[in-house]
Parts: sequence; C-alpha cells; structure tokens
Amino acid sequence: MSLASADDALTGALLGWYDRHRRVLPWRAPAGRRADPYHVWLSEIMLQQTTVATVKSYFDDFVARWPRVEDLAAADLDAVLHAWQGLGYYARARNLHKCAKAVAGDHGGRFPDTEAGLLSLPGVGPYTAAAIAAIAFDVSASPVDGNIERVTARLRRISEPLPDGKKAIQAAARDLTPNARPGDFAQAMMDLGAMVCTPRAPKCDLCPWHDPCLARVAGDAENLPHRAPKAAKPTRHGVVFWIEDATDRVLLRRRPEAGLLGGMMEFPSTDWREAPWGAGEAMVQAPLDAVWVQAGEVRHTFTHFHLHLDVLRGKRDGGAGTWIHPRDFHALALPTLMKKVVKAALG
Ligand code: SF4
Repeated sequence: MSLASADDALTGALLGWYDRHRRVLPWRAPAGRRADPYHVWLSEIMLQQTTVATVKSYFDDFVARWPRVEDLAAADLDAVLHAWQGLGYYARARNLHKCAKAVAGDHGGRFPDTEAGLLSLPGVGPYTAAAIAAIAFDVSASPVDGNIERVTARLRRISEPLPDGKKAIQAAARDLTPNARPGDFAQAMMDLGAMVCTPRAPKCDLCPWHDPCLARVAGDAENLPHRAPKAAKPTRHGVVFWIEDATDRVLLRRRPEAGLLGGMMEFPSTDWREAPWGAGEAMVQAPLDAVWVQAGEVRHTFTHFHLHLDVLRGKRDGGAGTWIHPRDFHALALPTLMKKVVKAALG
C-alpha cells in the first residue's frame, strides 16, 4: 500500500468511527452541519482550563446570557468575570471579553475564517486558531490538544518526552490531517482520545486504529507520551489584612490589570515572596493602622507556585477605599483564593 492510500485508510477508519460514536456536545453542530464559530470559540477558550463535564454548564449559561458575540461584547466586564467564576485564570475571561469586542467592532460580528485571521484576535493562540478554523470553517488545520497529542504520540509511537516532543507530535498530526472533512477529523481525534485512547488503560480492542497503531503493537501505549520530570514548585508567603469597619464592611481593592488574578478584587496583602514574613515587617505594608489578631491561614496552589497566606483581622472606623459587607460578596468576581480568605477570616 502506498503512503497516500495508507493515510486515506487511516482517515476513513477514524471518520467512520466518528460517524457512529461522536459525542453530543452543546457547542457541536449536528452531523453534516457547520458549527457556529461563536460557540466553537467560546467552548475552546473554556476548555483550555477544565474538563468537558465542567464546561457544559458554563457554556450553556454564557450562551443563554449572551446569545451572540455582539451581546458578549456589550456585556459589562464584571458580569463576564462573575459568570466565569470557577473556571480559573481570569486573564482568559478578560481576553474573552476583549476578543468579543474585537469581533463585534472590527469584524462586523463575524469571526475570521483563516488561522492567520483568528490568530490576530486577543487571547487566541495557535491551538485555538487551528481548532476554530478546522471545526467552524472546515479549514485543513491541525489543532493539537491533550487528547490529540496522546493519540498521535501512540499511533506513531513518538517517544521523545514532552514538552520537547511536542514539535514531532504536531508535525505528525499535521501529516495525518486530511483535506476532506478536516473539522470532523479534528473532533474525531478529540473524541477518540476522550473515549477510547484514554491516558490509563486505552481500549485498543475498540479502536479504529487498532491495526496500524505502533504503540499498541509495541505494547507501550499506556506509557506514551513520555513527560520530562517537572521541577518542584516553590512556596511563596504573604500576609492578608482583613479590615472591618464599625458596620462590619470589609476593605477590598482591585489588583493591577496585568499579572496574576489581574483586575480581580482582593483583600489587601503584603507582597508574596519566598521568605516568610515577620510580624513587624508585614505591618509596614498594611493599608491602615489597626490592632491585629491572627484569624487563620490559607493555602493555595497556582500553576507555578504554592502560596501560604496568614490572615490578620483588625477593626477600623473606615476610611478611603472600597468597603463591602460580606453579605454582598456574592455580587463580586472574587477569585477562589480570596474566597478561601473569607472562610479563614469568618471562621
Ligand atoms: Fe490508542 Fe490503542 Fe487506538 Fe493506539 S490502538 S490509538 S493506543 S486506543
């Protein structure tokens, strides 16, 4: 069999399997129909940080509130951040809103239909551009998410450890991508990775690529893709100042737009640094003078570091700043870390 016909056979086997077993997902079009680019974009941004099961309810909520990209563009940023709560990485939600504004304002409400055009949008990287181009516009593009990475590494038995091995996997995925039905092909790879070629105990007997899969033949599918060992995460330390006025309102401030939890509301704190804080030096960074008592501590893990916060509680008669009663916190887009602070402070 020639190389071209071998690849045609691979494509045909996978698309045949997809036609019988494809997942029904809220952002996916029925068989034979093109998906709405707004739905594909929204789901792909949400899926970058969590699972399909979690994203479904967020996706339904967003589409119910903002049925078109123009509606999302016109929404208040705080409302978008609030609806995003629980999906993590708020920078993505801010970029989502920026991107909606760009599509509504600069592109007449229509997403660009090429990878290059999509890449020019805020918050859209190479993976997302390829996914939208393939799924919404049937462009022969090759998005490589975690599922496609695993399936491709096993099919072609690519053993170079990640992250360096990504290049070889992406090249192999590009070689596999057909000109006909590329959107279905990408989604078929995603479904195969989610349902059959799972990280643990892949169900090779049910796989349309059972025969040509090199890792299955070699018996090492479950070990692929290999990963380079991760460096240990450092721990940073900070002190949070929970300050109440005479009516139990609490002082909050907004974080700078750039950086971690950018633009989110927080309780004032010291810097977060590698050395633990002594009581005296922490007080220098308190926004107001007060008599402090230790209220509790919080532990949280971000992608690149663990954080340990001591929570100090103090009373003041108020002053400049944003004072909000805890009963009204539900209306704020408080990140998970700050919700932990609330719990520690209020016991
Ligand atoms: Fe994955 Fe097994 Fe299919 Fe290979 S044969 S792609 S390892 S499920």
